[in-house]
Amino acid sequence: MKISRVTAYDLRFPLPAAAGSDAVHLNPVYSLAACVLEADDGTLGTGFTLTLGTGNDLVCEAIRYQRDAVLGGDPDELLAELGTRWHSWANEGQLRWLGPHKGVVHLALAAIVGGLTDLWAKKKQVPLWQGLLEMSPEQVTALIDFSTIDDYLSPEEAIELLETRSLGAEATKAQLDRGYPAYDTSVGWLGYDKTLLVENVLVSKERGYGAVKIKVGSRNLASDVERLAAVREVLGSDALVMIDANQIWGVAGAIRAGKALAEFEPFWFEEPVHPDDLVGYLCVRDALAPMRIAGGEHIPNQVVFKNFLQRGALDVAQPDVVRLGGLPEYLAVALMAAKAGVPVLPHAGDMGQLHQHLIYFTRCRLGMPELPLEMIPHLREHFLEPCTIEHGRYVTPKSPGSSSGLRPESINRFAWRATTPSGHPERL
Ligand SMILES: [Mg+2]
Repeated sequence: MKISRVTAYDLRFPLPAAAGSDAVHLNPVYSLAACVLEADDGTLGTGFTLTLGTGNDLVCEAIRYQRDAVLGGDPDELLAELGTRWHSWANEGQLRWLGPHKGVVHLALAAIVGGLTDLWAKKKQVPLWQGLLEMSPEQVTALIDFSTIDDYLSPEEAIELLETRSLGAEATKAQLDRGYPAYDTSVGWLGYDKTLLVENVLVSKERGYGAVKIKVGSRNLASDVERLAAVREVLGSDALVMIDANQIWGVAGAIRAGKALAEFEPFWFEEPVHPDDLVGYLCVRDALAPMRIAGGEHIPNQVVFKNFLQRGALDVAQPDVVRLGGLPEYLAVALMAAKAGVPVLPHAGDMGQLHQHLIYFTRCRLGMPELPLEMIPHLREHFLEPCTIEHGRYVTPKSPGSSSGLRPESINRFAWRATTPSGHPERL
């Protein structure tokens, strides 16, 4: 099998009023810069990254600049030495200047690697989770570029973690059979008023969710206190309630808010300050202990994750495979987090489609605790095989691939701008 065509699609999906809103991102348009790899036998592999609208075309352009990385390649051969290949792709001499390993070029790389990963699993005729669980420790480490992290985690240590942390065959099968717990972020967008917020939370409880996430960072801290009090009142003390500030505060503001909201016992406090602010995270974490501090959805690469994990700045790591440069960095972050003793609960920039596969790697190969994985349902109608939640749990996907394929009707209808030189949208 050879990859004969690589196509980028700029897809923008309008959301209902206030959906997706948080303290910083007030009017998101969920947009996918999708990369479809077509093999010479007609098999399609789909990868994508998420943006909030404006600029999604820049990512698509960057996919086109980087598509020679996989064009003409065999998915098995590319995957077998992915760590080495990924290193060369992520360090292309001219494009690297635009990053390195962050921003538009890195998002584009995530989409390309996502397409490759999907195609590889389809060729093997297994769901991605199965392909990963069946790999030897040596095969897993061959997927990773250790060149920037081996001062913290060597390939030998990674192999040892994979050999010693695995749940074992019986517990892995039981985990796959029962699916994986989910929480639904879409109940608690900041633009929802308190009445709608409480209604949503009650509906999610009836549907079997045991955890919810509530956006904070209102203009007035009293409003956050009031909203969180109302949620805690209807859910009682047993439910997990997470709070997410989406980087709105400086260090002092985050500490003030964390102290005001502590009485409602948030399970974690997410993105209290700017995502690059390692020292800020440390200050907030010290001041609010024992409150758990979560972050990572805007951490762009494994190097920054290494710094956060090495310094103990995170209690929950939230890498996003569609923001990192794809599978190699996700695996690197998961292994570093395992070494640091920090659970990995990815951010769902993929709407849960891809992470529902990857969570079984962290749970079953690295023995991470079974804490809930984020799910955002807003784009589910556009996927060929949308993830399914039953009684608050992801149902383990069975089809080959990474569940990333998009419906051709959605591609045609929501293509925002042509990505071909002819000026017409390319179609599946
Ligand atoms: Mg968040």
